Amino acid sequence: MLRIDPIVEPPDVRLSLPGSKSITNRALITGALANGKSELSGVLFSEDTLAMIDCLEKMGVEIISERDNSSVTVIGTGGSLKPPTETLWVNQSGTTARFCLPLAALVRSDVVIDGDEQIKGRPHKQLCETLEILGAEIEYLGAPYTFPLRINGKELKGGKVNLGGEVSSQFISALLLAAPCFPEELEINIDGELVSRPYVDMTAAVMRAFEANISHPSDQKYSISPTGYQSSEYSIEADASAASYFFAAAAVSGGKIVVEGLGSQSIQGDIRFLNILEEMGAQVIRSEDSLAVVGLDSLSGVDVSMAEISDTVPTLAAIAPFASSPVTIRDVTFISGKESDRIGALITELTNIGIRAETTETGLVVHPGAPQEGIIHTYDDHRIAMAFSILGLFTSGITLDSHRCVTKTFPNFFDVLDQVRAAGDARLRVLAIDGPAGSGKSTLAKYLARQLNLDYLDTGAMYRSVAAVALSEDLDLNDEGKVASIAESIDIQFEGDKVYVDNEDFSEVIRGPEVNAAVSQVAANPGVRSVMRRQQRAWARLRGGGVLEGRDIGSVVFPQARLKVYITATPEERARRRSLETGQTVEDITKEMLNRDTKDSTRDDSPLVADQAAVVIDTTGKTIEETSSYIEELFL
Ligand code: C5P
Repeated sequence: MLRIDPIVEPPDVRLSLPGSKSITNRALITGALANGKSELSGVLFSEDTLAMIDCLEKMGVEIISERDNSSVTVIGTGGSLKPPTETLWVNQSGTTARFCLPLAALVRSDVVIDGDEQIKGRPHKQLCETLEILGAEIEYLGAPYTFPLRINGKELKGGKVNLGGEVSSQFISALLLAAPCFPEELEINIDGELVSRPYVDMTAAVMRAFEANISHPSDQKYSISPTGYQSSEYSIEADASAASYFFAAAAVSGGKIVVEGLGSQSIQGDIRFLNILEEMGAQVIRSEDSLAVVGLDSLSGVDVSMAEISDTVPTLAAIAPFASSPVTIRDVTFISGKESDRIGALITELTNIGIRAETTETGLVVHPGAPQEGIIHTYDDHRIAMAFSILGLFTSGITLDSHRCVTKTFPNFFDVLDQVRAAGDARLRVLAIDGPAGSGKSTLAKYLARQLNLDYLDTGAMYRSVAAVALSEDLDLNDEGKVASIAESIDIQFEGDKVYVDNEDFSEVIRGPEVNAAVSQVAANPGVRSVMRRQQRAWARLRGGGVLEGRDIGSVVFPQARLKVYITATPEERARRRSLETGQTVEDITKEMLNRDTKDSTRDDSPLVADQAAVVIDTTGKTIEETSSYIEELFL
């Protein structure tokens, strides 16, 4: 369950969003098939792209990831993929599932592909049939035309194929991406209207950046020469589908949101979502390297075909109640085969919160209204979760029944969403207390909370709890994804000095030597930090403020806190205090603390620093009363 806090002030923010999932998964393939070494920047690391990386690695591609830099180096194979020794696991990723089918055929021996239940239920038949026509042998190990399956592309050549345009553009993209490494030219003829054409255009744009020879003489035809790919230094744009949530939020809020890393020349069709907002009455500002939306007085309804930008249907439907007339969305019947039955999901969930919404022949219509509070079922569909989070910014009492699904494409979505709330958060009565280990922050923070009649949050105990659970589950702490998912799934509660994790008393174990030794590594994990920041902000909002103590409260969690203090003390004094508290030797404690301080202040994500605006206080030789009354005066 995740409560969505409404915004209380219109935003005025610049956001830097994760890289495009669709471009990342295409560029990973073109890099993998190219001759030479490719450098990709702006890479998205999410469940869907990790699934692709994993499958490519299993087919012998060397991929060096630098998550902190959002970049990867791909050592190209020149088109000769190796037989995997294990099953390719596509997880829930539609692009990975579809794109890996023709890639696996390039291996030219048996490859088994499988994935999550959700992906098995999605359509794959036409792509499988086409590969069979092209000479691949496919054996279905469960139900026909879905996973698990075994594919062997020994006899795969090239030639001419016909594909229906109405099912999924991913089928066409899948064939296009592998085609430069086929032995002969491939010609694809499209029967009927091609849905989501912009995605096929995007595929062609990425392929050309890696020097593929692809011609598109008419709307219905693509020919790809068997030239292979050449390596490239390729920069991936910010994700336009992800940006749609923030553009929509700006349009409703009357504020301004600028998205960086995405410009008017974007190769992503979903930037056309901006045209709809413009038609509804929002102002759109386009430049080469950023796109912005300014919400004006009110939004009017629209009647639009969204066949080409169907991933943004949930976004539009979720803000539709706030328009002054109905919003009609057409030509999107096929989105019922996405991660959830999206049309059904949108109608059911809007209806549950008192909004009139109905299906039409090819889509849905949403009527104006004031949504009521309620629990939104997300169907484990990231786009439903993110769309209703935007609705929740303008409706009090919206709760998502599950929200982990956003990690599919946008792991730090809720953290970024907090930036939209920044103006309102600046009005909270927050006292931020940061400083190195053992500086006396927590004793001081607890004392101050009592004096100021505010609640107190020990954010270090939250990182310690994640570390304790990770250790108890014997996780490899280097596996950032798994450790981050612990942060997302556990429930941490405070009662006086006690800390409960999933209702179990963790107060002692989180102070133990194992956790002391592991916590800084866990706290350096960006996925963990993103979840913790979100929880810390929500904690303070619920209380109108509070005393929060940690390492990054003033610098990152609440940069606009009413007062920020940074507490220090000499290492000797810090060790002496801790030794009195714990009974350990001063020597042991000094070593442990300095070790943690070094890790905490040298990590990439929110390192321990005294924020420029923080009041720095050295507590050596001072009593708690002295320090506290000085801070109280500054705070009040
Ligand atoms: O405050 P405490 O010493 O319990 O914090 C334990 C660890 O948690 C720190 O060494 C640091 O690695 C991490 N931490 C953090 N950010 C915070 C609070 C704690 O990284 N806001």
